[in-house]
Amino acid sequence: MSDLRELYQEVIFDHNRRPRNFGPLTGANRHAEGFNPLCGDQLTLNLMVQEGVIQDVRFEGSGCAICTASASLMTEALKGKTELEAAALFEEFHHLVMGEKTEVDLGKLKVLAGVSEFPARVKCATLAWHTLNSALKNEAQPASTE
Ligand code: ZN
Repeated sequence: MSDLRELYQEVIFDHNRRPRNFGPLTGANRHAEGFNPLCGDQLTLNLMVQEGVIQDVRFEGSGCAICTASASLMTEALKGKTELEAAALFEEFHHLVMGEKTEVDLGKLKVLAGVSEFPARVKCATLAWHTLNSALKNEAQPASTE
């Protein structure tokens, strides 16, 4: 178990140091901003959605290691997913970080399971996903974890 934990931490550090899909997205047609006042995490999410499928997704902003790694892992998981699949994935991911049972294999997203032991960090881990929800609904209000 401790080996697994170390591996998970290594993946989180890696995604924090070198976030994937970080930067502006030209041709984006969905956009939302998210803010987690408890930690100060802030991010902007841009998506290109065509016929209900997420073709591309990138994020910008500044957040703690958990927030940045979670956003990075999320962007990797979302490409090629339909909007419905993305919403279902968020639900499963939420179960994971709440320490609840998940119905599907969440792949790399599982590295964030450890945050369930730190309730304050759950918001860091889910900020990108809340922002995704807003982007898919094209809400004008910034997403907030509060
Ligand atoms: Zn944070």
